[in-house]
Amino acid sequence: MPDKYTAVWVSHSSMGDFIKCPRSYYLHNMYKDPRTGHKVSIVSPHMSLGIAVHEVLEGLADFPADTRMDRDLLALYEAEWKKVSGKKGGFSGDEEEAEFKIRGKVMLEKVTCDPRFLVNKCIKLPQDKMPCNFYLSEEHNIILNGLVDWIEYLPQTDSLHIIDFKTGKNEEKDGSLQLPIYLLLCDALHKKRKVTKASYWYLESDKLIEKKLPDIDIARQEVLDVALKVKDARDTAKRDGVEKAFVCPHGAYDITTKTGGCSSCRPYEFILAGDSAVEFVGVGGFSQDMYVLKRV
Ligand code: SF4
Repeated sequence: MPDKYTAVWVSHSSMGDFIKCPRSYYLHNMYKDPRTGHKVSIVSPHMSLGIAVHEVLEGLADFPADTRMDRDLLALYEAEWKKVSGKKGGFSGDEEEAEFKIRGKVMLEKVTCDPRFLVNKCIKLPQDKMPCNFYLSEEHNIILNGLVDWIEYLPQTDSLHIIDFKTGKNEEKDGSLQLPIYLLLCDALHKKRKVTKASYWYLESDKLIEKKLPDIDIARQEVLDVALKVKDARDTAKRDGVEKAFVCPHGAYDITTKTGGCSSCRPYEFILAGDSAVEFVGVGGFSQDMYVLKRV
């Protein structure tokens, strides 16, 4: 019988980190501060903007389709913004915070003007305290978890349309595992209906871009291939130590000379080294110690 507590949990973001670099995966997903026992995380204005807008939009799924858009999205956004306001949201000052906040406001004004599929029926995947999850491989004790931003019900075909809200300016790269993972989550957790459509909604430019759905068997294999590499690295870390398992392919940050690394790992290396370039700003919702990178 597989054991969920000893399983390796993988998600779009953790596998994305691993693909970028194993050391980055370790820093973002495994390292725990020995003083607090908490994982660590760097907060940034982009991340805070994304969280506030996503909370507003995803929260709408709790209401019936016909009255959903009666809600005042901007008032909901104000309430969500309070949770990320100031230093804890990674903002260096009032001016920067105002700049980001207005971006989210404009996105939600556009959504209010043209809510598209938000006025249609939607479904939610079953979930408890953990994000939606299922056994990607019982044999290897690997669980895939994640949250699909929105799942529209398509009555004409009795099928599902999966949508990812994008608050950043960059388009999702081809070859991203995001849609394959969403497809697998829906397939495993909502057996009644098939996914027949997938889209990214770029909220800043208000563009809804439909993407070709991946073949489900290929998707499963692609995701499992990466997940097995993650598991393998974690097993190596247990056996031979972290330094051997999670290696930087380029030239990792050197604490002694303060050189090397890249923007993805350096702030985390600062945390590990107790460097004053980062500042602790609080404990997050998942009991992670949150830091901001000081900017001068
Ligand atoms: S510098 Fe190396 S360790 Fe740091 S994120 Fe880039 S590839 Fe990974």
